[in-house]
Parts: sequence; C-alpha cells; structure tokens
Amino acid sequence: MLVAGWLSPPTLQPRKGQSMSNSIEVRKTYQYRLYRCDKRDQHLRQQINIAGTVWNHALALQKRCYRLTGKYIALSELKAHIAHLRMTTIRYAFWKQLGSQSVQDVLERLDTGYQRFFKKLAKRPPKYKKVHQRKSFTLKQAGWKLLDGNQIQISGRTYKFVKHRPMGGAIKTLTVKRDAAGRLWLFFSVVEQVIMPNEVTPDKIAGFDFGLKTFLTDHSGKTYLSGLHHARALRRLRVLQSRKDKKPHGTNNRKKAAKLISRTHIRVADKRRDAHFKLAHELCDHYEVLCFEDLNIAGMKALWGRKVSDLAFSQFVTILKHVAVKRGKTILQLGRWERTTGKCSGCGHCQDMELRERIFHCDSCGMVLGRDHNAAINICYAGAYLR
Ligand SMILES: [Zn+2]
Repeated sequence: MLVAGWLSPPTLQPRKGQSMSNSIEVRKTYQYRLYRCDKRDQHLRQQINIAGTVWNHALALQKRCYRLTGKYIALSELKAHIAHLRMTTIRYAFWKQLGSQSVQDVLERLDTGYQRFFKKLAKRPPKYKKVHQRKSFTLKQAGWKLLDGNQIQISGRTYKFVKHRPMGGAIKTLTVKRDAAGRLWLFFSVVEQVIMPNEVTPDKIAGFDFGLKTFLTDHSGKTYLSGLHHARALRRLRVLQSRKDKKPHGTNNRKKAAKLISRTHIRVADKRRDAHFKLAHELCDHYEVLCFEDLNIAGMKALWGRKVSDLAFSQFVTILKHVAVKRGKTILQLGRWERTTGKCSGCGHCQDMELRERIFHCDSCGMVLGRDHNAAINICYAGAYLR
C-alpha cells in the first residue's frame, strides 16, 4: 500500500500566524559558582537555614490550623502572620537576617506546593525538611546588587563569583543555592528576547528516536552514544558506601564518608549534564527543527530500571529545549499516540513489533531497517507534517 506523499518529506510552509520577524520572550537561568570564603559564606548558609526554619514553621501552622478548624490558611494571611512574628517577637527576630522578599518567596513556594496537591498535580502535600538539607533562598529585586567585574553584594556583604560567561537580559530573581558537596551557587533568572528564523528547508529538519542500546538515532541513521556515567561510577560508589556503613553513627568520619559519596554523585551528574549540553549544541549546529517523541519515562523505568535514569532522556530533552530556544531552533514533541515504531517508513504499512526486535522488516514492501532508524524517520516525517 502506498500513501501519497509519504515517500518524500513534505515541503515546509511557515505556520499560520507566523510573522516575518519572529521574536519571543524566554526565561533563562544563568548559573555561577561562588568563590569559597568560609567566613563570609557563613552568612549565606545561615540565610538558607533560616529559609528552612520559616518553611517548617509555616508548614506546622498549616497543619495545626487544618487539624483544629479544617481550613487552609490563605497565602496573604500567612504572609502577614509571619511578617508580624518576624518584626515584633524576640524569639523570631533572627528571621530578620533573611530579607522580607525571601521570606515571602518561601511562603509562596509552600503555597504552590499545597495548591498543586489540592489540584491533584502532586501526590503528597509539602513535607518538613531538615534545616541543613534546605537548599536555597531567593531574592527578587531588593537585597542584592551586581558590582563591577565578578563581584556581587548580597545583604550588605560583597562576594566574588566565577563569571565564566557574560549574562544578558533583564534579571528577575537571584537564588542562592548550596549543593550536596557544600558549594554555593548563584542562579540568575532572566528574561531575554530570542529571534526565531522563518525559512526552514527540508534538510534542516530532523527526527530522533531514543533507545536503550544507542542513546539517540537520527533519521539518517547516525547514532549518538551515551556515556553511562553512573554505571561507570557504580563500583566506586559501592566501595564508598560500604566504607561509610562501617563508621559509627554520629561521628565526623561518617559525615566525611557521606560527603565523599555525594561528591561522587555530583561528579556523575556534572559529567552527564556536560555531555548533554555538548550533544544539544551539536544537534543545533546541524538542524533548525528537531522532532522527538513524547517520552513515557515512568513507564520506561518500570520496564528497564536504573539504566533509564542513567541515560536521563528527560534531562536531555530539557537541556535541548533550553539550548534550542537560545539559538532560535524549534523542538517538536509528538504526541504519544503517534505511531512511530511499528510503522514502515518506506510505505506507511503498520505491523506489530516486539520490544526485543532490533530490526524492522516490513511485511508489505520488504524494507529492512534498524528499529530506531526507522522510528526516527517516522518521527521526522510526522514532525514535518505537524509544522
Ligand atoms: Zn513497507
């Protein structure tokens, strides 16, 4: 059976409503590491801890109120109450070390967590967090100032950060974060204008299929492998874990061993993210429109286990979207109902295909092609039609 137009990729037309100069507003994050300075760092760490205390306090209030009256405290009431505690009581006077906007931000996050739970977007309501596990606090417009070079002033103190690249756009918020290895980072959330190109030729449109054997396969059959960094670090992680298990609870040696483990995890994550960024840029070098399948990660994890997490498809898609937006490229994600694996890319014939079959063999036209390659071509065609 031949489907008209299926054999050659369709010509591309600008989408409806697309004007010639097409600029969009995007939200981007710039991340910088703070130089270590134990004395001054202490103040930032202290502020992160206070954010944690405020979170737990407000959460306890919500829980108690619900237990006693069955009601939820509205965000505005909660803000007013916490502000009152912060300004008038001696017991909570230390909250003043954290700016009022940051306190409000903590309460807003807590409220968002509850709203997601009420709307059934989250399975559980927000939880108590150990204060030393609290990761960050956020400043809006006030309380910080960028100085010359690589310096920044945060609540009256000057810090230096590793300015490895220039920042653009209008800064909306600044978040100070600490990671599991105890390093401090600055996250600037900015709004930037990006210009999207209109003219796209068919050779600039590509389809990609994710796989377990090969990380990515594109429509021309080119494969991209994954580093599987976690799998490589697994042996070392096991050794470190058993070393930690031998140390008695509550000792400094145990804490040190735990830190080594989290460092290893962080290095794995760093390497993976770096590889993902490099691949994303490589793909964006070659193509204007990149088509992917919408992934069912939870389902894949149930089927294949840890390896899916190590491949981190969804993290890659997030990074790719980020890079694509920055460079004015388009990412298309097809719906899950789009048939891509069991369909012949030559004639459009559909047939059942088992998971372990690595080669697609068309019953109708006899075409033989790698499973992922065939799917990638289908995704490319479907994406071209979608546009
Ligand atoms: Zn066929």
